[in-house]
Amino acid sequence: MIAKFNGFDGDQAAIDKAMMERCIGLSAKAIEQGEMPFASLICRGAEILVEATNQVARAEDITRHAELVAISKAQHILGRKDLSDCTLYCTVELCAMCAFAARETRIGRVVFAIKSPMMGGVSKWNVLRDTELSNAMPEVFGAVPEVVAGLMQEDAERIWHAWNPLIWAVIRYRGYLGGYSADTCFTTLHAIPERHGFLRRLFAFHNHAPDFFRRLRF
Ligand SMILES: [Zn+2]
Repeated sequence: MIAKFNGFDGDQAAIDKAMMERCIGLSAKAIEQGEMPFASLICRGAEILVEATNQVARAEDITRHAELVAISKAQHILGRKDLSDCTLYCTVELCAMCAFAARETRIGRVVFAIKSPMMGGVSKWNVLRDTELSNAMPEVFGAVPEVVAGLMQEDAERIWHAWNPLIWAVIRYRGYLGGYSADTCFTTLHAIPERHGFLRRLFAFHNHAPDFFRRLRF
């Protein structure tokens, strides 16, 4: 665990605001690291388990998005794939690649600041909110997580503007990122429970008693 905020007494909205403030601060540090201002945290309640910036420029590896780096670290720290008790925070709506990975971790909540209408795993490609993934393959994909979109968008956008005002203006003009007013952008999409299908029970039984299946002959 990196840090824990005290005194919130389960106030999720206050925790989200504190975490997003930290995430936005981290996105400014990404600029100093030679990266674009993407940052991500994975938290359990008021505990920050991991924080990450993009490593794409430094590693010359397009899979090193901040969100994937954070997911990988969180699984390593917890010693399990399941992140259903965690919230993923990111300054920019996670892309389809990262959203797919997040669904496989069964992430419980996702909170982001700037919408991504061209690349987003919610706004453009319905990966985070797809019920078919979890209903058809609940043994692989978690339930549809709660998604809080547009939290502190204008604060996060200020970092992008500071990074490069001209590039940010073009990004905004072309509609790649952001472009909404905070009033119209902020939304909460509620979690949708998964169905516990037959195959998931079969997988659980397989993990519990693998010898039983070895003896079976079809
Ligand atoms: Zn991504």
